[in-house]
Amino acid sequence: MVQRSEMANLIDTALWDRTNQALPVRYHDAEIRLAEPVEMEDGIVLVRLPLPFALNHINVYLLDESDGWTLVDCGLDSRTSREAWDSVLRTTRVAGRPIRRIVVTHHHPDHIGLGGWLSKRFDAPMFMTAGELAVAGRYADPKRDVVVERSEFWREHGLPGDVAAWLMERMPRYSRHVHALPEGVQLIDPGKPMSLGGREWCAVIGRGHSPEHLSLFDADDELLLGGDQVLPEITPNIGVWPGGDQNPLRSYLYSLKAFATLGEDPLLLPSHKQPLWGLHSRVDEIRQHHEERLRQVVDSCSEPMTCYQLLNALFGRPLRNEEIGFGLGEGVAHLNFLEGEGIVSSSLDEHGARRFAVRGV
Ligand SMILES: [Zn+2]
Repeated sequence: MVQRSEMANLIDTALWDRTNQALPVRYHDAEIRLAEPVEMEDGIVLVRLPLPFALNHINVYLLDESDGWTLVDCGLDSRTSREAWDSVLRTTRVAGRPIRRIVVTHHHPDHIGLGGWLSKRFDAPMFMTAGELAVAGRYADPKRDVVVERSEFWREHGLPGDVAAWLMERMPRYSRHVHALPEGVQLIDPGKPMSLGGREWCAVIGRGHSPEHLSLFDADDELLLGGDQVLPEITPNIGVWPGGDQNPLRSYLYSLKAFATLGEDPLLLPSHKQPLWGLHSRVDEIRQHHEERLRQVVDSCSEPMTCYQLLNALFGRPLRNEEIGFGLGEGVAHLNFLEGEGIVSSSLDEHGARRFAVRGV
């Protein structure tokens, strides 16, 4: 029998116009070290801050306003991250001029975490898209525990009780790494260009990694402050969460189309890893990565299976316990995508677990 995945590309042409003309990925040769500001382009300073995860850093950017700085993203709220900021603010490159304004690309703790702390320290207003502010407010609500809210979702997707209990105890809570947001966060209108650091930036909205992720593009100098939307070497987590987008992989791939044709060959200034040229090729590599994952799921789904049962096939290896929370969200994102495309169907079994099956195989 011909397997469904051999018959066609799983990501269809509405989401992926294949071209072979993109320039290859070339990395910027800047040497980037923690808490040592590096000027990447005239008036754009990259600051690398520590993260206590497998991904051990984030890049944030200071844009030169001559009498101060606009900061794009802030770092996680942790003692080491605050110490890194203290050190950065004393460097000759940065010292003596205040942060005038804070722009946050999206609500994830490594991006927004120290926003409230820096906003208070410099009396600087914070700017975000409405979609990101809504989630940040919901996650930071002390009356809610979004990890507890996930337990029903975990059960539905086949997570064994002992793994769920392990995760419930150890999954980090959002507010632990996010300082209280300032009063009166100002909303960004993505339709309006923004003047920051002497340049005109257009918003390019990404979806699927977070609801209304902000990337900023300077068409004159071909610069892209990419946030997490397009990353070198790694792909942004695309996951389903209760109450969020239930087909985030489709949303992500759809929003990625704008990046595949952005400019001629912009310099991508990403939130993690090394800046690079060859954005359009990198977008293609990310699409290929998801195509391969989708294919692995379809080829492994020989009988009705839960997302948990398909995780090893999806990731090509067993996940460690601490990876399973995000892994399950990512697995369901791939399965919901396939269901949305009519390639798999799902139903609840007698135990209330959702089982996915490839249609017509
Ligand atoms: Zn993120």
